Amino acid sequence: MKIMQPAPILGIDLGTTNSLVGVVDSGFPILLADENGSRSTPSAVLHGEDDKVTVGAVALRQRALHPTRTVTSVKRLIGRRPGEAGWVPPYVLSDLKTTPVEVSAEILKHLKAVAERALEQSVSKAVITVPAYFNDAQRNATKQAGELAGLEVVRILSEPTAAALAYGLDKLSEHQKIAVYDLGGGTFDISVLEMRDGVFQVLATAGDTQLGGDDLDRLLARFIAEKVSLPPDDIRVSEGAEAVKKRLSSDETASFNGLEITRAELEKIAKPWIGRTRTHCLRALSDAGIKAEQLDEVILVGGSTRMPLVRDHVREIFGREPNTSQNPDEAIALGATIQAGILGGSLRQVLLLDVTPLSLGIETFGGLMNIIIPRNTTIPAKAGEMFTNAVANQSSMLIRILQGERELAKDNWELGRIEVPFPPVPKGGARVGVQFRLDANGILHVLARDTATSTDTTLEIRGTAVDVADERVEQMIAESVDFAFEDMNERVWTETRLKAEELLPAVDLALAQLGNTIDDGEKSEVIRHAAAVKNLLDSPAHDARALKEATQRLDDATQALAVMLIDRAVEESLSRRGLV
Ligand code: ADP
Ligand code: MG
Repeated sequence: MKIMQPAPILGIDLGTTNSLVGVVDSGFPILLADENGSRSTPSAVLHGEDDKVTVGAVALRQRALHPTRTVTSVKRLIGRRPGEAGWVPPYVLSDLKTTPVEVSAEILKHLKAVAERALEQSVSKAVITVPAYFNDAQRNATKQAGELAGLEVVRILSEPTAAALAYGLDKLSEHQKIAVYDLGGGTFDISVLEMRDGVFQVLATAGDTQLGGDDLDRLLARFIAEKVSLPPDDIRVSEGAEAVKKRLSSDETASFNGLEITRAELEKIAKPWIGRTRTHCLRALSDAGIKAEQLDEVILVGGSTRMPLVRDHVREIFGREPNTSQNPDEAIALGATIQAGILGGSLRQVLLLDVTPLSLGIETFGGLMNIIIPRNTTIPAKAGEMFTNAVANQSSMLIRILQGERELAKDNWELGRIEVPFPPVPKGGARVGVQFRLDANGILHVLARDTATSTDTTLEIRGTAVDVADERVEQMIAESVDFAFEDMNERVWTETRLKAEELLPAVDLALAQLGNTIDDGEKSEVIRHAAAVKNLLDSPAHDARALKEATQRLDDATQALAVMLIDRAVEESLSRRGLV
């Protein structure tokens, strides 16, 4: 039997050129592929003569055959009236008696089907992204398109915000600022965002709705057409040009019909084209009232930012290395998916805080912190350790679960405690295994097992193990650095004290047993070292180094006693058995 999960919410990037769909699966956002294995669907819709609607790569391929029946870049039209600024005549949309909302709905229907096929279940909710500058009419029209496609649109999300989520920048602190440079197929958008109260505020947006990779394809097609003596609008040339352009993002040369084209040649053609983004960037910065150096991050979005020339240009404009850690053409869809996961509850702090902000551990002998899951461990995570009782006849062990970076338990935060009962045993007789499991939802499951009886005691700690306010994390870390020396001294002191407290009674016992059999010089030497250790233990100075050295000297001085004790034991046993 297949266990049905609650229907997930889709994250959708409804792009001008390409559209993508994703979902959070087992705590991770993934983009879904169609039956051809492609995660990106061209935003192209073909209305066949038989009223059959085709979406995606197939529609795009037929565009040359049916130019009046194929609609591309419908996003430019959605929510706009003809004649309105920014309005561009569609590929003869009117011939088809269909509206931009209906065409967009076809794309969304297709994405919904891709998702349902991949997930093997039906879905009915989605988060859809739109450009930051979309007005109410455009946002509403997008929502309508979703509803027409059978999707409840639970949120319309700004593209730069989605991109920032994908880049994990929701972890930024208050008032940090980022720029999102998005160069796609047909549009260029630049946005400046600021983190305020845990959410991104768009400070400024600028751009050009008629500037994108397609323009460069046309320029390159013209260059190629001239060299191979074909018309530039020949489909082979125009498609070849895009392929050559993409190839040149990773290779130094690419060929078309035997013609060799170098990256340098493409860059020469592309320079004025990419130069057009510059003023928009400066404009956005000035509208936001900030200078480039006040930005904390510049992120790249859109397929065209894969070009090295574009990256160079961005670096030059903003005077910093752009963040390229995500696939630029998938970032918006990934961010929409993360938002969908958060809204649907399948993704809580997981992706927002996918590592443990502070170490998790328990208190051990002498009030020390024993780390079980270190800070910055990616979750989910699992780790454990074995502990024993410090006192004889103890009949239970108290386990205090702690969070923090300080060496002493008392300086860390207590998240909870559990008591593990066991039958009274001598010191060191009990063996209790403690396991920490931090699941994908940030819930800490603590399990303590008495190995003698296999009795488990468990505790669940929700939220606090992973979800800690940034300021508190910063404060904890700052303190652990400030007190690093004192803390370390206390840890060494405590560890040495525990050792000394074991050694001293053992020395007394050995002296008593050996009595007069050892020479006085040796005996007074041992007594002197033992007294030094006792003195240091009693002194309030807590001089860890002195105690460590004194304990070591006592340990060395008693080596001879230990050997004599063993010799004597052997002798006694032999004589008992009448062998000597
Ligand atoms: P949109 O946001 O407009 O829907 P995308 O972000 O998917 O579009 O970007 C599509 C554009 O990116 C196209 O012009 C395509 O040629 C270009 N592109 C994709 N991959 C590369 C690449 N490797 N090098 C250069 N351009 C690329
Ligand atoms: Mg895009």
